[in-house]
Amino acid sequence: MIDVLVIGGGNAALCAALSAVEHGARRVVVLESASRAERGGNSIHTRNIRVMHDSPMGYLTEAYGEDEFFDDLIRVTGGKTTEELARQVIRASSECPQWMQRYGVRFQACLGGTLHLSRTNNFFLGGGKALMNAYYRSAESLGIQIQYDSPVERLEIDRKGFQAAWVSDKAGGAHRLPAKAVVVASGGFESNREWLREAWGPAADQFLIRGCRFNQGVLLRDLIAQGAQSIGDVTQGHCVAIDARAPMYDGGIVTRIDCVSLGIVVNKEGQRFYDEGEDFWPKRYAIWGRLVAQQPDQIGYSIIDAKAQGRFMPPVFPGESAQTIEALAVKIGLHPDALSKTVSAYNAAVVTGRFNHAVLDDCHTEGLTPPKTHWAQRLDTPPFTAYPLRPGITFTYLGVKINNKCQVLFDDYSENLFAAGEIVAGNVLGQGYVAGVGMTIGSVFGRLAGQQAALAAMRRPQEELCI
Ligand SMILES: Cc1cc2nc3c(=O)[nH]c(=O)nc-3n(C[C@H](O)[C@H](O)[C@H](O)COP(=O)(O)OP(=O)(O)OC[C@H]3O[C@@H](n4cnc5c(N)ncnc54)[C@H](O)[C@@H]3O)c2cc1C
Repeated sequence: MIDVLVIGGGNAALCAALSAVEHGARRVVVLESASRAERGGNSIHTRNIRVMHDSPMGYLTEAYGEDEFFDDLIRVTGGKTTEELARQVIRASSECPQWMQRYGVRFQACLGGTLHLSRTNNFFLGGGKALMNAYYRSAESLGIQIQYDSPVERLEIDRKGFQAAWVSDKAGGAHRLPAKAVVVASGGFESNREWLREAWGPAADQFLIRGCRFNQGVLLRDLIAQGAQSIGDVTQGHCVAIDARAPMYDGGIVTRIDCVSLGIVVNKEGQRFYDEGEDFWPKRYAIWGRLVAQQPDQIGYSIIDAKAQGRFMPPVFPGESAQTIEALAVKIGLHPDALSKTVSAYNAAVVTGRFNHAVLDDCHTEGLTPPKTHWAQRLDTPPFTAYPLRPGITFTYLGVKINNKCQVLFDDYSENLFAAGEIVAGNVLGQGYVAGVGMTIGSVFGRLAGQQAALAAMRRPQEELCI
């Protein structure tokens, strides 16, 4: 009999599986939709985790305390968070780096560019792919059984709790897999175009999915249909502006356009529509997908001049460049007069200050709507470069409600049914995002869910099991 069944193959799932073994579960099985080659979900695309710490820790500089972390979260979520769970995640994050290293994860110094993260975020050596490979290696060496190509289509739940998972097979059928406890860590529904369309309408047809194609939200839907309480708004999620030329799935980090705060962004009419310098990029990058989604045809263009070159992480596709703004407009299909007028108005409104991209500097515009509050410099040094932008959905926030043991809440809590990762992100993130908190949520709740599932499995009386 399986003690703990873990559904999903990303960070939250592997943290849960490793933690379940740590806490005494003897037979732990991981069911991953993807093949071995494609395993790891969105987690393979990650680069860092946000971590609370009271003093310098490894590559993390200075201190980043609970209240500051919580304030950062409150600012981006506008208060839409469950404070008890958010503080639980923040406090437990301080133990994550050490735990992760135990299972082979290694860290490196913070990467440069427009992310000012050396104090708050721990970067994975080799990125999320290396992190997931380390977890899988550790899991295999501990005897955790990994079953690839194993999408779960539904959960069998009765009044005594979780009984079994129904796993699809290639022949079109499904087989029943009973277990004493389960951790559902199967991501959000961001890979499911139909569901995105239900939430966003036809605009969703222009969205690109930054991560894997496996997070279809099958179990999120199944759980809600079976009475699990949901949390979060279906249209909320992490959605950034990415290169419009990115592939439909798995474009990953290299398609993100990180020069927004160094220039201006216009829509297809050549008009600016939001303050590009509102705050530091790590606190603002996650609003730009939504902003582009609200523009005509869901397209935008990030425009910089030569002064910005070398100051941001270069994306994988080179931008279009030209010696004049008008020539650039022609190259990217905008009306030259419209773009030229927008740039002239912006240039005229810039108040010269002391440019410093590492602080909220005094370079700003005056008398311009929308304003640019920091890092405003005239676009006056050719060549001028443009990157086309589309909304790139990273992950969705609609999830199932959990308590502080990661038990999924129905009318009551579920004794042996736990959830972790993106599928519970909405408990902490009602809206907005601070860089690195996705992995914090997944790591903390993954570990906790695995621990609690192991304890539940050991407690579960035999007569409750429908084997
Ligand atoms: C490009 C990109 C960059 C990112 N960078 C960062 C970063 O640097 N820091 C950060 O904190 N966050 C980052 N994120 C967000 C981060 O990836 C997520 O918060 C985190 O990986 C979620 O972990 P998870 O385990 O819940 O989901 P995932 O890693 O997506 O795993 C979900 C798993 O469930 C499997 N699955 C889905 N449905 C089923 C089913 N029915 N049956 C069986 N298996 C199923 C999938 O195959 C997958 O393996 C990034 C995301 C993307 C896309």
